[in-house]
Amino acid sequence: MPRLSEVIAALENLWPAERAESWDAVGTVVGEPDQRVGRVLFAVDPVQETVDEAVALGADLLVTHHPLYLRGTTTVAASTFKGRVVHTLIRNDIALHVAHTNADTADPGVSDALAGALGLRVVRPLVPDPSDPDGRRGLGRVCEPDHPLTVRELAVRAAERLPATAQGIRAAGDPDALVRTVAVSGGSGDSLFDHVRAAGVDAFLTADLRHHPASEAMETAARGHRPLALLDAAHWATEWPWCELAAAQLDEISDRHGWDLRVHVSKAVTDPWTAHAASSAARPSPATALPGSAARVPSDSDTSGAPN
Ligand SMILES: [Zn+2]
Repeated sequence: MPRLSEVIAALENLWPAERAESWDAVGTVVGEPDQRVGRVLFAVDPVQETVDEAVALGADLLVTHHPLYLRGTTTVAASTFKGRVVHTLIRNDIALHVAHTNADTADPGVSDALAGALGLRVVRPLVPDPSDPDGRRGLGRVCEPDHPLTVRELAVRAAERLPATAQGIRAAGDPDALVRTVAVSGGSGDSLFDHVRAAGVDAFLTADLRHHPASEAMETAARGHRPLALLDAAHWATEWPWCELAAAQLDEISDRHGWDLRVHVSKAVTDPWTAHAASSAARPSPATALPGSAARVPSDSDTSGAPN
């Protein structure tokens, strides 16, 4: 069995810490460098549910995409949820290592795994990393389906192939429009609209799209006569495919070194949203509401002082 320091060195080789964003907090959070590692669990979120899963599995190392502490802390008291995670890990001799934005921009990285899950061919990064002379690393990916799909078909495919969540897939734009090129970005993607527009793609699939950036992107696309469809999945669901990719990468490294290492992927659904209700067909939308009906048409004053 390898030592933790050897496994961490292999992970750092896949996702060097210096390639993380300056605001990020990646690397080893908990762990004794000399402890032996026989079992590794990959998960998106370092929450109690995945830590409990690691304990039940007998894992020695939990590797997560999201950081446990993004900012400094003055306590790891078990009365806080993060402190309890730290206590559970240490009491059970489980190390925690984080690969976040350094895994987003890696080649292959989070968006390659997302594209792979959706059966899309990766053409190039959406936002290339200027420090990569080969132009293969970067944020998001511009992709092509093997044959043009309608927006509706792409949404159904994403709903079928990404792990199931309460949210499912939301789409904006003409459902019958053809998608020949699509940008994908695992996790929150609404800061990438300028790059999406520059890429000239037919669709953008990501997570956490907020009202204002999405609305402005659609209006701008319409004004430029360059229609854009948006597909919004649950944040967790867009990043979970990376766990399978990362586990396969570590498995391959383990084989090469002749390590006695078992690599697992978390089955816990840690998307915070657990229920979804579609709007009732019996309740008319403002556009179809009859005069005097209960449906309320928003007035201009409703948008003043709206939070972003
Ligand atoms: Zn994320």
